[in-house]
Amino acid sequence: MEVRNPATGAVIAAVPDASEAELNAAVAAARKACTAWRHTPWEERAAIVSRIGDTIALNAAELSAMLTCEQGKPTDQAITEIMTAAHWLRSTATLTLPDRATETAPGRKHITRYVPIGVVAAISPWNFPVALSAFKIAPALLAGNTMVLKPSPFTPMTVLRVGELVRDFVPAGVLNIITGGDALGPLMTAHPGFDKISFTGSTATGKRVMAAAASSLKRLTLELGGNDAAIIMPDVSIEETAQKVFRSAFANSGQICIATKRAYVHDAIYDEFRDALARLIVSAKVGDGSEPGSTHGPIQNRPQFDRLSDLVADCLANGYAMIQGESPTGTGYFLPLTLVDNPPQESRIVQEEQFGPILPLIRFSEVDDVIAKVNDSDMGLAGTIWSRDIEAALKLADRMEIGNVWINEALALSPFAAFAGHKQSGLGVESGIEGLMAYTEPKTYFVGG
Ligand code: NAD
Repeated sequence: MEVRNPATGAVIAAVPDASEAELNAAVAAARKACTAWRHTPWEERAAIVSRIGDTIALNAAELSAMLTCEQGKPTDQAITEIMTAAHWLRSTATLTLPDRATETAPGRKHITRYVPIGVVAAISPWNFPVALSAFKIAPALLAGNTMVLKPSPFTPMTVLRVGELVRDFVPAGVLNIITGGDALGPLMTAHPGFDKISFTGSTATGKRVMAAAASSLKRLTLELGGNDAAIIMPDVSIEETAQKVFRSAFANSGQICIATKRAYVHDAIYDEFRDALARLIVSAKVGDGSEPGSTHGPIQNRPQFDRLSDLVADCLANGYAMIQGESPTGTGYFLPLTLVDNPPQESRIVQEEQFGPILPLIRFSEVDDVIAKVNDSDMGLAGTIWSRDIEAALKLADRMEIGNVWINEALALSPFAAFAGHKQSGLGVESGIEGLMAYTEPKTYFVGG
């Protein structure tokens, strides 16, 4: 299977396109390893999970260069992704899930123990291939499960390389990484050898995964799309907030599930705020992520580039005002960073998840009106509020129908905090104790006197 560099469109490598027989072999290896791994003491599993993190950190230079080549993000951001993966593995390894015992009568108690589920199918997307895979590897292995992990066909290389780097110390069969094309994901989700599916990707695919999981009642974690809103109140420092919102919307060229995808700006500061953002857009340097000075890389793949080009064409056809920066022309999948100036709430650019460097700014003057517009979405992943009045911001946060809300910061996740999408942004939880519990099932011992 060919892998392309999105900055040039050139084929840079070939990786295996796993057949059904190879998937079966990976599942058989994971099943075989399952019993010994679930009975390996927690501390030993934690040490191995942490060592995977150490190994990723030690090899950050090589891994980040490979990541830039296949994913497109600038080198400094590739290093950040690699170090985030290392941090998640090391931090998750410090968590524990002690038994819960309740004495119900003298000499009689209930003990609930959190036992591993079995063999996990993990499927990850192309925007943060290493970090989002690490978010699954760490809790699944720590809790005593074994795993077959499939990265996106657009970004298979760096995750495969991680597998190569850790295979000498992770016991055989515990972590299996396979790559393949469009047929492999559905084969995995329908495979009777898996007990749980942990999927990160689009909402449309998530629904297919959920339907397939029903065949054998596989446990399920779905981390799906978002259409995150930012609410920018009139009391903010305009320059400083514009910089933070710019990063929140355009980092990784907007290809982040929790990126700001629509910004509601108060009427009193709208023009000034738009102009501050426009200056940042014009000064950004879109280019090949491996070239020094590039601040924003290409769109990761051709289908996504075509989707975004279609959204821009829709804005043009509807006569929405746009402000665009510079971007290279040529064979790479480059798009200029773009602001859409006050399109209607019902426009496609506001209603759809763009997942790219195009941000609609929408004017508002009434808080009730903006909350109604923010909640006018099937998505409920995350959002941000920008205001000096923290009390008022917290009250606004209570009214947003989303799983994660940031106030005066953005994109800040933690391995110790639960991350869950509401509505059609997901099912279940990743990270924190809740994310670890999602790789276990409670087993209760009722002990008589
Ligand atoms: P995608 O749904 O196209 O693909 C994700 C993964 O699923 C890939 O590995 C793909 O090969 C596989 N896949 C495709 N069809 C499948 C099927 N029928 N059965 C099983 N697996 C299948 O998503 P993408 O384009 O790679 O990623 C972008 C999307 O992911 C965006 O919507 C984004 O918001 C979302 N995302 C969500 C989170 C989160 O944590 N909530 C994080 C990152 C990305």
